[in-house]
Amino acid sequence: MSLMGQMMHMPLLISSLLTHAARHNGDTEIVSKRVEGDMHRSNWAEVGVRSRKLAQALARLGCEQGDRIGTLAWNGYRHMEIYYGVSGSGLVCHTINPRLFPQQVAWIVNDAQDKVVFVDLNILPLVEKLAPMMPTVKHVVLMCDRANMPRETALPSLLCYEDLIAAEDGAYEWPTFDENTAASICYTSGTTGNPKGAIYSHRSTVLHAFAAALPDAMCIKATDVILPVVPMFHVNAWGLPYAAAMVGCKLVFPGHHLDGASLFNLFEEEKVTMSAGVPTIWLGLLNHVKSNNLKFSTFKSTVIGGAACPPAMIRTFENDFGVEVVHAWGMTELSPLGTLGRLKTKHASWSTEQKQKLLEKQGKSVFGVDMRIVDADGQVLPWDGKSAGDLEVRGHWVVSGYFNIDKSPLHDGWFPTGDVATIDPDGYMQITDRSKDVIKSGGEWISSIDLENVLMGHPAVHEAAAIACVHPKWDERPLMVVVKKPGAEVTAAELIAFFDGKIPKWQTPDDAVFVDEIPHTATGKIYKLKLREAFKDHKLPTV
Ligand code: AMP
Repeated sequence: MSLMGQMMHMPLLISSLLTHAARHNGDTEIVSKRVEGDMHRSNWAEVGVRSRKLAQALARLGCEQGDRIGTLAWNGYRHMEIYYGVSGSGLVCHTINPRLFPQQVAWIVNDAQDKVVFVDLNILPLVEKLAPMMPTVKHVVLMCDRANMPRETALPSLLCYEDLIAAEDGAYEWPTFDENTAASICYTSGTTGNPKGAIYSHRSTVLHAFAAALPDAMCIKATDVILPVVPMFHVNAWGLPYAAAMVGCKLVFPGHHLDGASLFNLFEEEKVTMSAGVPTIWLGLLNHVKSNNLKFSTFKSTVIGGAACPPAMIRTFENDFGVEVVHAWGMTELSPLGTLGRLKTKHASWSTEQKQKLLEKQGKSVFGVDMRIVDADGQVLPWDGKSAGDLEVRGHWVVSGYFNIDKSPLHDGWFPTGDVATIDPDGYMQITDRSKDVIKSGGEWISSIDLENVLMGHPAVHEAAAIACVHPKWDERPLMVVVKKPGAEVTAAELIAFFDGKIPKWQTPDDAVFVDEIPHTATGKIYKLKLREAFKDHKLPTV
């Protein structure tokens, strides 16, 4: 007969992270550059009290366990209070990317059936416009104090965040419930078709926080000062608000002030030691420090992921500024951490150049996520560093399904990532291509299908394919490959102008090229791999 352990069973709940931070590191600061323009100073104890008040306020507004609560907000202390107040009380925090096309925001809110939506000041105009299209939303809360509430608004019952908090006493105990309860939901548009919701549980979130903090992962500790550049609507800022509570470190939130100068000043003023974000955002910061001959005085390491980090960026950070870069790979469906570039003991004797080459890869698995590569027939491929196959993962914080979708995305119990990779004998994974039909520009997805559908509506276009083209600033930008109708005359500029008003401006393709024929696969799909190969050296006019 098996012998059971005799350890306390305490469900892994998100509220326990905040309770720990408030009790053991209560005076550690949470600093935010607000949308209002000023700086705001809080600490873990205050976030603890205000999150409990928010939980009380949400109950008063009629929210019940399992209800989805949306946020359209930048990185700041109020957003973090919503993270904890919502999830901690058994509601589901639904962070929404305000950069999406307005109709897409409304679609996502409707799919999630958000009951309340919290909005930052400068995102209110979007919500005012969309409100009639979002029937499930009973309350919109503006994340500001009474003095900053607009005099006129299209939303007559708009609520004020600070009024909601002020009306409560904070005498609230976080409820205890099953650790598998949904805690937050994040939609990914990195798939074809409509965005899909990944629902994180309390258990997966807490386990992910443990792993994220590990020395061979993000390596964060109580003495760190972390500035998450990655938005809180991008996979919960890669889990940093949770991992930071776990280790009890200081957090610095930049709001929407993400230009090089604003970031640099914040790094220096608040003595930031660690950060995380997509490659594009670092270009602005590096340009600012280089062109003004500046140096970082406290910044020691940064995790860069979400898109392939250019080796030149790693070198510049390390050689010119003494900032260690950890290249990471992950996905919305993975909460997001999957792999990170860290060395093993055996690499101690390697030359600097060999180590650098290895760390340019996407890295090795963090405990909690296993991976494999498979060929087109689903056969598992060897870890020889050469065989490239579809990358599949499984683990404690990997999705098993999507919200509102019955069909399982899993293949043989593994989650197919849509990335193509090699894995070397030491377990270092390198992304070599992507099988999913999307383009990632500056960390944001652009749907190839949406672009193709627009151009297929142009009278001179017979067939159009959108592919990703390498761009030094945005990582990838869309290039349209077009077959004209017989006898039709049209220029690339006319085709690009045809996108005006049909998609968000930042998604407009950078160029169009004309070909006689677009290659197709045996099943009649556009052969994107071949097209990407054919145009891999194409120089975009925007470079
Ligand atoms: P998202 O769900 O928006 O976080 O996007 C996840 C996808 O971004 C992955 O499946 C990859 O296609 C891409 N990605 C993330 N990190 C990296 C990386 N370090 N290198 C290359 N691609 C990456």
